[in-house]
Amino acid sequence: MSVLRINKLTKKYGKLTAVDQLDLSIEQGQVYGILGPNGSGKTTTLGMILEVVAPTSGSFEWFGGMSNVEARQNIGSILETPCFYSYLTASQNLRIIAHIKKCGTDGIDKILKQVNLYERRNDKFKTYSLGMKQRLSLAAALLSDPPVLMLDEPTNGLDPEGIAEVRELIKGIADQGKTIIMASHLLDEVQKVCTDFCILRKGVKLHEGSVHEILGDTNSVEISSEDIDTLLPSVESFEGIEKIERSNGSLMAFLKEGYSAKDVNAFCFDKGITLQRLIPQSKSLEQEFLKILKEND
Ligand code: ATP
Repeated sequence: MSVLRINKLTKKYGKLTAVDQLDLSIEQGQVYGILGPNGSGKTTTLGMILEVVAPTSGSFEWFGGMSNVEARQNIGSILETPCFYSYLTASQNLRIIAHIKKCGTDGIDKILKQVNLYERRNDKFKTYSLGMKQRLSLAAALLSDPPVLMLDEPTNGLDPEGIAEVRELIKGIADQGKTIIMASHLLDEVQKVCTDFCILRKGVKLHEGSVHEILGDTNSVEISSEDIDTLLPSVESFEGIEKIERSNGSLMAFLKEGYSAKDVNAFCFDKGITLQRLIPQSKSLEQEFLKILKEND
């Protein structure tokens, strides 16, 4: 089911085009990452689809044509930290927000458990770490059990532990079947959390696709043994090898389609070669990202 379709959405601030003719399509269940450096138009895009920024031109459609007012009730968003009362506890703050959102307070404990704040629910907000505050923001967005969650740079400013916690939490929320739309300038974050993504640069979409597809398997494997000089000609004679290169004291074997690291291992074993290293290579989003930027230069 279509969650969001964006058609030629554009935002100009005077001479600056912050978002330029953007087309996007987001389906139910996707964790969709809008990836781009600072100033590439991510926040402006989220602002427009939440109707807090007026588009210059173009359009968007939530849930196959639902009215925007109705659609908003199906979206939990954290574009900025909600205003929590510093002298109230997590439970009290969520109760106030539930009251404002008219969504009942029964689920609060469950949500506090989900965001791992249940133990600290009776502590005052002002005693919380930044990571805990961010998790409470997520809890507030989840209160009305919205099918769609929208996040802007969800791990900004957090330490590595806080980053890992928030990422795990987002993945857990996605596993419940919710659609998540998030802006991030962190490749690593998009690679770890998202199923699909687009790349924005200066408001222009350079690429769109599935994270899995772009990363895929390179079908190459790093191998080494005690004696690389004898390993090289032996492995070269394996029928599954397309190409083999030396690389930092190891060999990089590029395999023909239908062959895998397991076949290389079996071949070496049959030849009486003990491999010290057998590491299937996978691509990183960083390499692919740089490639895409280069192609669009
Ligand atoms: P960041 O991660 O730094 O927030 P971003 O990708 O979210 O970056 P935007 O905040 O959407 O990017 O900004 C896109 C461009 O639009 C930037 O050049 C920014 O300076 C400009 N911009 C954003 N809001 C305004 C505004 N209210 N008035 C003028 N220019 C703006």
